[in-house]
Amino acid sequence: MAKKRKKVATQSATGVIQSLERVARLMRSEEFEIGLNPAQWEALRYVARANRFSNSSIALTKFLGATKGTISQTLIALERKQLITKTKRDGERRSIALGLTDEGLEMLEQDPWQQLITIVETFKPKQIDTLGKATGTLLTSQLDKKDLPSFGVCQTCRFFREKGAPTKAEGPHFCLLFEQGLSKKEAKKICCEHEVS
Ligand code: SF4
Repeated sequence: MAKKRKKVATQSATGVIQSLERVARLMRSEEFEIGLNPAQWEALRYVARANRFSNSSIALTKFLGATKGTISQTLIALERKQLITKTKRDGERRSIALGLTDEGLEMLEQDPWQQLITIVETFKPKQIDTLGKATGTLLTSQLDKKDLPSFGVCQTCRFFREKGAPTKAEGPHFCLLFEQGLSKKEAKKICCEHEVS
């Protein structure tokens, strides 16, 4: 019986990582061209993606694995450019909730990384799935090394109960950890307390 040939990879592991590094470098240079530095872009994107339990500077610090000082300076710059708002959280005197202004939303429409999303959208579903699993594994390896939280979405969280709060104003879903309802929109946002189910 003929031996089955082992599939030979057309790309080396080094080549893949070097491509990723170069893509990231080129995107960083485009970010500067649109008027924000990379840290400011990352913070702006985070504020757009975070749920109501995670829109704080502490959560952003954990998400980026940055220092408190860097995050504080970044948020001051974004507020000065009128791209984000800082409001006191209900019932928590010392806690500030971050939000986006209309200008912030408009700025995100020019996000250079959006070009890459458009390119990936042209890939076949199987290719997107393979790419997603590979980049997910790379990300997890780095998060585990630095002991940083996953920041996933509700659907993959052990505290999520789908349609667990159908009569609550904030429902129809429910979070067992915060004991609060979650709208369909919010359940798709990232969370600082996410734990893989
Ligand atoms: S279900 Fe999990 S991810 Fe969703 S809000 Fe609750 S803790 Fe966060």
